[in-house]
Parts: sequence; C-alpha cells; structure tokens
Amino acid sequence: MPTGIVGEFLGLKAETDADLLAMQCGDFYEFFADDAERVADELDLTVSQKSSHGSSYPMAGVPRSELTPYVNALVERGYRVAVADQYETDDGDHAREVVRVVTPGTVLETADDDARFLAAVVREETTGGSADDAGPYGLALADVTTGRFLVTEVADAGGLRAELFRFDPAEVLPGPRVRNDDGLVETAREELSGTVSLFDAEAFASGRAKRAVREQFGRETADSVGVDSELALRAAGAVLGYVEETGAGVLASMTRLTAYDDGDRVDVDATTQRNLEITETMRGDAEGSLLETVDHTVTAAGGRLLHEWLTRPRRDRDALDRRLDGVEALASAALARDRIRELLGDALDLERLAARATSGSAGASELLSVRDTLALLPDLADAAAAEPLADSPVGDIFGEVDRDRAAALREELADALADDPPESKTGGGLLCRGYDDELDELIERHESVTDWLDGLADREKRDHGLSHVTVDRNKTDGYYIQVGKSAADGVPEHYREIKTLKNSKRFVTDELAEREREVLRLEEARGELEYELFEALRERVAERAALLQDAGRAIAELDALAALATHAASNDWTRPELTDERRLDVEAGRHPVVERTTDFVPNDLELDANRGFLIVTGPNMSGKSTYMRQAALIQLLAQAGSFVPARAAEVGLVDGIYTRVGALDELAQGRSTFMIEMRELSNILHSATADSLVILDEVGRGTATYDGISIAWAATEYLHNEVRARTLFATHYHELTALADHLPRVANVHVAVDERDGEVTFLRTVRDGPTNRSYGVHVADLAGVPSPVVDRADEVLGRLREEKAIEARGGQREGGAGSERAGSADGTRQVVFDLSSGSFADGDAAGSDREPTATSGSGDPTDESPSPVSATDSEADAASRLGPEASDVIAELSDVDVAETPPVELLSRVKEWQARLE
Ligand code: ADP
Repeated sequence: MPTGIVGEFLGLKAETDADLLAMQCGDFYEFFADDAERVADELDLTVSQKSSHGSSYPMAGVPRSELTPYVNALVERGYRVAVADQYETDDGDHAREVVRVVTPGTVLETADDDARFLAAVVREETTGGSADDAGPYGLALADVTTGRFLVTEVADAGGLRAELFRFDPAEVLPGPRVRNDDGLVETAREELSGTVSLFDAEAFASGRAKRAVREQFGRETADSVGVDSELALRAAGAVLGYVEETGAGVLASMTRLTAYDDGDRVDVDATTQRNLEITETMRGDAEGSLLETVDHTVTAAGGRLLHEWLTRPRRDRDALDRRLDGVEALASAALARDRIRELLGDALDLERLAARATSGSAGASELLSVRDTLALLPDLADAAAAEPLADSPVGDIFGEVDRDRAAALREELADALADDPPESKTGGGLLCRGYDDELDELIERHESVTDWLDGLADREKRDHGLSHVTVDRNKTDGYYIQVGKSAADGVPEHYREIKTLKNSKRFVTDELAEREREVLRLEEARGELEYELFEALRERVAERAALLQDAGRAIAELDALAALATHAASNDWTRPELTDERRLDVEAGRHPVVERTTDFVPNDLELDANRGFLIVTGPNMSGKSTYMRQAALIQLLAQAGSFVPARAAEVGLVDGIYTRVGALDELAQGRSTFMIEMRELSNILHSATADSLVILDEVGRGTATYDGISIAWAATEYLHNEVRARTLFATHYHELTALADHLPRVANVHVAVDERDGEVTFLRTVRDGPTNRSYGVHVADLAGVPSPVVDRADEVLGRLREEKAIEARGGQREGGAGSERAGSADGTRQVVFDLSSGSFADGDAAGSDREPTATSGSGDPTDESPSPVSATDSEADAASRLGPEASDVIAELSDVDVAETPPVELLSRVKEWQARLE
C-alpha cells in the first residue's frame, strides 16, 4: 500500500463509491493511479508520474479554478466524481476529505437549459407471486438545478418505462427490489441517457424515507404534501437522502413536493413518444420535432415548461380550458403579446438562480441576475393584466407571486450589490457604498491611505527635489519608491534601498512600510467583511427560494403560453373544442410539422361512436402515415392545452394515445422486427380502453402474408368489439377493407391518387371508401430500383391480378434454355397462388394457355374476398414435387416487398435464390 499523498488518495477513494476522485493538492486538484489514466483519456490531459516510496504512479491534475468545468465534463460522460478538499489541521498539517460527490443527477452547473432529473424507483417488497416486473412502482423525480420535485405511483412496468422516457432522467436510483430487474436497468441504461447508481438500500425503507420527507417539508406538512402513496414517499425519501449524501447542498431549494395525479395523465407510452417525434425525431434530432416546431419561448424556464406540457398531456378539462383561454387571449392580442415577449427576453432563470443561492454557489453576478429579473416583474405583471388580457387567465398569472416581497428583495439587492462586481468574491468591490456602515468606514480608511500613496511620488519630488520618482507595488517588493538612476544618489537618508534595476533603484521608508501594512490590513478586513455581508445577503435570497420559484414559474408559464399563441397566430391554428364525448372530429386538419415545409393538403377526420375505426388504405407514399400521425398530434396538442392545425376540431379527451408504426431504428439495431411489432401490438391491446386513441400503421408486415392478414384481421375485430378504442389503421392488406361490411363501426377511407398514362399523381386527399390497388411497384420505380426488376415486378403483379398465378422462372445461363431444376423444357414452372387457400401450388409450367391450375375449393379465381386460411392438400403436393428448398425460395420471393427493399439487397437476394436452386 503506498503511503504519502498517493496513499491518502487511494484511502479516500476506497471510502467513496464514486467512479473517480479529484483530490485537492494546493492550487491543483489531482487524480492518481487508474483515475489519472481514465481522466486523461476522457479529457485529453497529460499524465505525469508521481513517485511515492520507490513506486511511481500516474498523475493528472487540473487547476483549482477550473475544477468545475472538468468535473462537469466527466459527469456529462456518466461518471460520478468525488471531490476531496484540503484543509489545515490543528497542528498545521494538511488533510483532505470528500466534501461532495458530483453525479449526473446532482450536478448544479449544467451547460444547457433543459431540466435535469434525478429519479428514484421503488417497488413493493413483496408482490405476491406475480411477474418479475409487476407493479405498482413509486417514482420520484427531482431537478436539483431548479428544485422541482415530483412524485407519483405507476401501475406497471410499461407505465414506469413511459414515465422514465418522458423525463429522461440523467441518473436513476433503483430501489432494492428494482435493481435486480434487468429489464428496468437495461431500459435506464440503453433507452435513456441516464446513469444507474446504486444507493444505500436503507434509504428506500419506509421509516427512513418518511422521516427524510418530513424533515425536508416540515412536520406539519408531512401529511399535507398530498402524497398518499407510500411507494411514492419512499422514492422521494431516497432522492432526498441521495442529494444530501452527495453533498450537493441544494436541499433548501426543494421547497415543495408535487404529487402528480394518475387520473389526470394521458398514457403515452415510450414507443408512441418516439413515434410521434414529440421532442426529437426518430433519428434523434431536435429539429423537426413537434416541440421544436412550436417552441417560440424566449426563456429557459419557458422552454422547460413547454417541454413538460407536450410530454405530459392532461385529461383535466378545466385545467386545459384554462390554458387554452390563455393561449387564445394571447393569440388575439398581438401587441400585448409582443410587449410581453420583449420583456421576457430579459428575464433570467429564477428557478435555477434560487437553487444556486440555496446551494451557496451563486456569485455576485447571479444575485444581480436575480435583482434584474425581479425588476421586470412589475412591468410584466402590468402587461399581463392590461387590456385585452385582463379577463383571461393571463391576467392573474402573477397572482400567486408575492410581489411586495419580491420588490423588497429586489430593493435590498439593488442597495447592496455593486453594478460591476469583480470576479473574485473575496477581493472587495462586491458591494455598494452606503450598504453597511462598518464597511463604509473601512472603505473610507482604505481610500485615505490609497490617496496618501497616490500623492506620495509628487510629495517626494517636491520635498526632496527629486526627479523621475514613481510609487508602485508588486508582489515581491510590496510598495516601493522608484527613483531614476541619475537621481538615485540624491535620495534622503531615511530611504532604504531594496533593489537596483538597470535604470533605477527601489527604496522603502518606514512610513511607507507602515502604510503598506495598513493597506493590507484594510484590504483583508474589507474583503472579509464584504464576503461575510455577501454571504448573508445570499442567505436571505436563499430563504426566499420559494418566492423566486413562484416568480420563475409564472414567467415560464407566460412564456410557454405566449409561445403557443405565437405559433397559433402565425400558422392559422385553431382552438380545439374539448369534449367528454368519444369523438375526434377534425375539419381541414394538417400535420403540425410537415405543414411547415410542404404545400400541405388539409384533410378531414371523423371518428365517433358510430364510426370509431377507420381502415386507411392507399398506395405507398400517398400520405397514410402522415394522416394518422396528424390525428394523434392534434389529439396530443389539444390535451397539452395548445391550439391545433385545423380549421375546426372537436376533440374528445382520451386517456391514452397508442401508436405502432414501422420501427426504423429497431431494424437498424438488428432486433427481430416482427417480435417487436407483436410486442407493441400486444401492449396496445392490453392497455387501450374505449377512451383511447390507437394508431396502427401496418400490422403483420413482418411475417408471411397470410400470417399477417390473419393477425391484422383478428386485432381489428378485438379493437372494434372489445377495446372499442378510437382507431386508425393503415394497411396494405386490401382484404381487410371487407371488414367494413361486417363490423358496424368500421369504415374505410383511402388516400386518393390520380392515375393516367401509367403515371401516378398523389393527391393527398383522404376520401371515404377503400382503395383496391397497391402502387408499390410505381414507388420502386421512383426510388430508382433497376428497370429489369421494376418491369418484372410489374409483370408479376399483372399476372397475379389476372391469373392469380406466377411462374418461377429459371436462370438463362445454359444456352438460354434454362436449367433442368424446374423440371420443364423452357425452365419455367408455373406456380399457382391461390388466394382462397392462401397457398402456392404447382401448375402446368409449359402450358401455353397459362390457365391456372385450380387447387382447392375456390370456384371463382377472381374472387378476392377473404376467406379462412387453411392448409390444403395441394400445398403439400406442390411442396413435395418442388422440393422443400424450391418451395421456400418461392415463398420468400412472394414475400419480398419490392417497394421496401433496397435494390442492392434485392439483387443479392436474387443471387442467393439462384444459388439455392442450383
Ligand atoms: P404513406 O404512409 O402512405 O406511405 P406518408 O404519410 O409517409 O405516406 O407520406 C408520404 C409523403 O407525402 C411524405 O413525404 C409527406 O410529406 C407527403 N404528404 C403526406 N400527406 C401530405 C399532405 N396532406 N399534403 C402534402 N404532403 C403530404
């Protein structure tokens, strides 16, 4: 075991469970051994060697003044960094102790404006014999940078995942039972950007957690925080314990605990949040998301609040109507809105400033920001309460803010703080004259000495007839009188020489030395007193954290409402009429994001009690997805309290929005798409209710055609008969359109196209009734699939349509005559695809009449109506004659979706088939 400084380092490191330790050594913070290597690697620092008793250890350090940015950079990368400060012991030695562990969820000085949550998750100790991931779960979320503190209870693992996805915590603390739940830990690790930290299991225990909550929020409020879920309280307790243990010192800014109510929440599962591109696109960009589109906020807090509104839509109609009243008032008051946004532009982040004050990390410039933002309040409140906003909820947005106290605090800060504070908190100059008598006196004395010093050079010249005299000060010599070489011989006797320079000499006198001591004494006293006064002032700001949070919240709300109003006004959005009826009735609706960049064709939508399930058909690329997403987004916007892109909209409130769409990213991750597709479908069928909105964009595509149709068919029946959710279902299985004839609430709509001279023009108009064609081949052509493939696909399609039969064509390599393997003279074997049985059968390959061979009971080969899928004898026959490999190849060939397969892949698959048939 090394001794000395490295030994001390390793000893401290062993005591903390942080990933890295930064230990103060004088003016540097050093990392040693493995930590040094790791940090150097991450941050591009130079590693040197520190020898300690014969061994040498890697060492990397950062200057004390730059510790924060370095630590933050490490924390951004997911490390938990312990910081050990140096202090002087009674016997004058140096010792060190860990004062803080900076973790992703407790870092105070973050680089961006986004909320940054620390989450704790707990689960009942015993949940009977139920599944490993069965709920309920208690969840607490704290943003230490603003003091926001939320708790809730969620029913099951899916709900938990949705909440975690929504808040995207930077750090997750799983409780004792949750930490063995692989699914959850994996979710936190993979899907969220968060770090998973294991924290003392005891802290999640009921008694201790409740005590922590009571201590934080006061004895009498323990029961009145409005949290009746024991699990939620336990999670909250763990968060408090963790924040305290890591030494962030922000507990004082967590002034209230907000329980958010299940009954008010709209279930938007993680998949749907991603599919609808609410805060980022599927590719992970903020640009092109719904949030980015409507985010015209001008303050950081307003941006955070709008984020919260969009990711946490509500069901409380009164609350939503209030928000809509606010948006409406602001949308129609352009001048007042501009004035408000202009004022807001100068507002700084009061919630964060409050947290900085309570943690003791706010400097003079932060307190000045508090002063200046508080100074905006009267004007803001006046602007919000002036006509024509007065009668809307905007008028009393500042009603909750104690404006008298805010004004008093502003005044105190204005009286105390100097306008241009120095960087250093201890060097003096932070505070104004007139703020404190004792300080004023020190300053006056200091000034009188400096005046004396300023006049000294002139006095010496005059009194002693010297020329070239200056008086100055530096670190090594202190104050000195400098006399040019030519005059240096004539200095009076009481001058003591201290240094000879090339052209001059430096002297001191007893009087100067005395004054110097006085200056230093006064400077020190002034610095100390100022800092003391400053700390007291900061303390008083910290005591008003709740006031600052109220004001910050009001500013954020005003900003978020004004942002939605701005977007509504400039994009011709309309106020949705919220109703408890089960309907979604949209007139001339548009997609909120696509309409920004496209000449958008508006469409109507009608879903109600008699027409609750729409089957949406139409060619690929015609606009089915866009139409369905736009429905979901209009629903979501309405329940976020926003206007919507439509001429008119009547929106029945839903309890959940569920979507399933082709998941590109999961394809890229190489997971089985069909399994994922079925999991998502399963989740929807389990979770959706008669009050939900369900969007299905293709179901069953990931498996063989008849498998797929059967699943889509049965899912439709189930959603229609049992779940009774409002549903939009886009499908390329035209067979499904027949369901409208059998199920009363199912209706068909299609996206119209205009087809002339073999060219397809997309009209983007949604019309009643089904379409009966797939235009995949046309899109393949547009996408640049090589023409032999497109031509052949066209031909195959034509045959399938006319004859329900397709030939498996042999290769032409051997003298153009084809190969033997298909067993016919020209290498062509006709395989009949029997729609009624859903299977392939061998046909008369060489037959020039190309009549399909009837395979089973289907009378009319052009009959497209769906019929039950059954295995037939002919299928078995065909398979035995062709051999299993050939049958497989044909089955795969028939499953290829030409429109969805890249040309290169198509070609390589053709090659593979050829090889397999040889
Ligand atoms: P599908 O789901 O039918 O394959 P998409 O919904 O993906 O088709 O739409 C294909 C393209 O058409 C998209 O690029 C989209 O921007 C555009 N589009 C869709 N609907 C409209 C519309 N109503 N007006 C204008 N362009 C549209």
